[in-house]
Amino acid sequence: MSVQSMLKVQRLTKSYPTAAGALTVLNEVSFDLAAGESLAILGPSGSGKTTLLGLCAGLDRPSGGEVMVAGEAIGAMSEDERARVRNEHVGFVFQNFQLVPTLTALENVLVPLELRGAGGAAAEAKAVELLTRVGLGARTDHYPVQLSGGEQQRVALARAFINEPKILFCDEPTGNLDGATAHTVQELIFGLNHEKGTTLVMVTHDLELAKLCAQVLRLRNGEVVEGDF
Ligand code: ADP
Repeated sequence: MSVQSMLKVQRLTKSYPTAAGALTVLNEVSFDLAAGESLAILGPSGSGKTTLLGLCAGLDRPSGGEVMVAGEAIGAMSEDERARVRNEHVGFVFQNFQLVPTLTALENVLVPLELRGAGGAAAEAKAVELLTRVGLGARTDHYPVQLSGGEQQRVALARAFINEPKILFCDEPTGNLDGATAHTVQELIFGLNHEKGTTLVMVTHDLELAKLCAQVLRLRNGEVVEGDF
């Protein structure tokens, strides 16, 4: 059986203009991740991990090189085209949750479906089911401020899962959580990987979480210093 490439990164480079000239924060990073794989991106603070994740998820545009998500080259795409690819294929979980404060838990989970014009009763039932699955069936009408950090992260996970993404990007998904809550979130993320074959890419300092990933990429000063690629 041929293995489908889900995320292919080729000589990816990102530079920012500064007063002292261009600052290169990612330099020719390459790797290829097959569908259903899991990858941990490690490295010291400032090594380019978040920048790499954002480029792979189509949140930002590279200065050079290419990113292929589910077979689509997104590097040179317009913002609208990248938004389409994100809506079709990508889920994203941030360290600081990034829920919309004026929406309830249920409404937050529905946001990605509404972006695709897929609201309605069936969507709502699916969102309630997901919130129940992450242990928040009794919190659907709560606003983020009424939820603990762990509960907010579980709402963020339900929101990332609702489109059944082919690939889930997580930036320090357990970074702001206590040990027990981090464990619950970890189980939810890897449950998706095992049950649905969702490809996982995560930036983490949590070595327990990184050990659960099949592959590791280590960055230093924007370059890959270790990886099985
Ligand atoms: P990490 O996630 O490994 O801590 P980042 O990807 O956040 O690293 O940042 C890598 C480098 O890029 C850092 O030196 C950071 O200061 C720089 N950087 C990130 N975003 C910008 C930006 N918008 N403009 C200029 N420099 C940036």
